Amino acid sequence: MEKLTTRDRKHLWHPLTQHKTHGHMLGITKAEGAVLTDEDGRAYIDAIASWYTAMYGHCHPKITGAVTDQMHKLDQVVFSGFTHEPAIALSEALMAVLPYNQEKLFFSDNGSTATEIGIKMALQYFHNLGEKRNVMLAFEEGFHGDTFGAMSVSGLSAYNGPFEEHFIQVERIPVPDEDTIEEVLQHLEKRLQKKDVAGFIYEPLVQGAAAMKMHRPEHLCRILRLMKMFGVITIADEVMTGFGKTGTLFASDQLTIKPDIICLSKALTAGLLPMAITSCSRKIYDAFYDDTLQKGFFHGHTYTANPLACRAALAALQLLLSGEMQENINRIIRRHQEFDKRIKEHPRVASTRQTGVIYALDLAVQTARYGSLRDRLYSYFMEEGVFLRPLGNTIYLLPPYVISDAQLDKVYEVVWKGLDMDFEKE
Ligand SMILES: *Cc1c(COP(=O)(O)O)cnc(C)c1O
Repeated sequence: MEKLTTRDRKHLWHPLTQHKTHGHMLGITKAEGAVLTDEDGRAYIDAIASWYTAMYGHCHPKITGAVTDQMHKLDQVVFSGFTHEPAIALSEALMAVLPYNQEKLFFSDNGSTATEIGIKMALQYFHNLGEKRNVMLAFEEGFHGDTFGAMSVSGLSAYNGPFEEHFIQVERIPVPDEDTIEEVLQHLEKRLQKKDVAGFIYEPLVQGAAAMKMHRPEHLCRILRLMKMFGVITIADEVMTGFGKTGTLFASDQLTIKPDIICLSKALTAGLLPMAITSCSRKIYDAFYDDTLQKGFFHGHTYTANPLACRAALAALQLLLSGEMQENINRIIRRHQEFDKRIKEHPRVASTRQTGVIYALDLAVQTARYGSLRDRLYSYFMEEGVFLRPLGNTIYLLPPYVISDAQLDKVYEVVWKGLDMDFEKE
């Protein structure tokens, strides 16, 4: 049999890929715990948990077991007119841990649909109330997904270029820091006086695709308080930050102002099946609850609340809440802190930051985003048996909670050695 790498080229088109220059795909045949294995039997530590999904380790027996059990009972049924135990049990379990103001869950299939739904809920909320508000606010460099609404509110222009003319109405606000917070608040207050802003979408505490940029909870709280004062619907995109990564179950737990809407996906099903949830407060739900049909929310995906995905999510949540997993999270947080103490003094490290198990370091270099350094670092990490995806000049770690101390040592060592690379080479 020809190798997967070769067979792949014939018919497959990969995401976020320029095939002419980056057409080589590594064939992966197995994943277990924190390790991926390729078709030649080489092992790689998955130090970003396959885009922050497989946080409890790949193929965890508790999760595969729950899904196996479920697939012999009920595989799929239409969620319009029908309901089932896995969806109800998951809603009960999630409500017990989500911020206190959340009350209703709406299911979909991925992070982009979760935010798309949040945006549509915010826009229709005002439509139903008979109030004309069409503008969405979002942070600069935010990332919320690839569908049109989600893309419109995302601020990374590399992805958006060809589509910008077709976007919904969006205005961006800078992510505040120590020096800019007062100015940001002043501008915002002035802007909100027009009363045409429907919603504000944000990645709380950590902006993933913007190379793990972090901001202070107090600053975000001040922005959210202002939004609430002007009746703006707040949407926390916790697709990346949800389920323990920031050191609390949700990043919103570290904020005193709770969002009206929360978007969840990625670690929701522990990497086993695609599913997403958009949760909302009573206030949102009530604006759709009416005798007229048109005021309902006419959005629905075929696989809404798929029973197998719900069972995976339920098992994942039980794992997250276990003493063992909470211990693991605290262990990784401590170990990152120790690593940071040593590496931040390195002359080739410009800056470092950490929120929970998310750790990032910026290299002291002036190279364009996605220049050759990024690719050379990626290849070097893979040769050393560690899967990391540097973003521009940022190396970030977001390991699965089950990563062992020895595996973590290896990841740290490989990052440390990567600093010896010739940064300026073309
Ligand atoms: C990944 C991500 C999305 C998009 O999720 P997909 O499942 O890839 O569509 C949206 N928002 C954030 C913050 C993300 O990290």
